[in-house]
Amino acid sequence: MIRSEFKNVLVFMAHHDDAELGAGGSIARWVENGAVVRTVICTNGDKGTKNNIPPYKLTETREKEQLAASKALGVKETLFLRHRDGELEDTRAFRNQLAFIIRHFKPDTVVAHDPWLPHYSHPDHQAVGHAAFKGVIYARDHHFLPELTYAGIEAHHTNTLIYTRSTEPNYFIDISGTIQKKIRAIKAHKSQIHNPRSTEKRVRIRAVEAGRLAGLPMAETFTIKRLR
Ligand SMILES: [Zn+2]
Repeated sequence: MIRSEFKNVLVFMAHHDDAELGAGGSIARWVENGAVVRTVICTNGDKGTKNNIPPYKLTETREKEQLAASKALGVKETLFLRHRDGELEDTRAFRNQLAFIIRHFKPDTVVAHDPWLPHYSHPDHQAVGHAAFKGVIYARDHHFLPELTYAGIEAHHTNTLIYTRSTEPNYFIDISGTIQKKIRAIKAHKSQIHNPRSTEKRVRIRAVEAGRLAGLPMAETFTIKRLR
């Protein structure tokens, strides 16, 4: 077993299925190599349908699907923050919430959406990306959130920040060994998939194209930032 460089990974994503689509192969690989990975889904995902299903039902369905997807990747735990889908903002309260979670789980690595994409990206993704970065800082510096320190929830330094789906990636993970797990996890999001075969094809093509950038058979691409 090649030991994972990362031992304790916390993944903040806006919606159910974002973690699998952006980093599913890497998450499975980190787990296979001994890391503990937790995912945090920030919205309730209740806008993600074109069918006539009530929003609360959709949240229920998507959370069940997410737990099945997490299991397929070997994720230890998945938290649902249930903020309103499509209305997430990088507020002080949201950053504090993420900082609290970071101080609690003490990850060496935080993964989030890249908030600085030069083209269209979902506003919830931008909000999570920005709030996760600030959450890492708020968790690190003890003069932020003194009430947590006072309550015994100490400051925590995260070594590495990884952004998914960056347009100028500087970090590539070979997922040729875990592509099956990634596909199984994506397919667990049944309410979001209309044609599983074409989804699988698209995921494979994307992985091969990403791999080409780094001379790998299949890859996921990221921006990595080492924090001091
Ligand atoms: Zn999303």
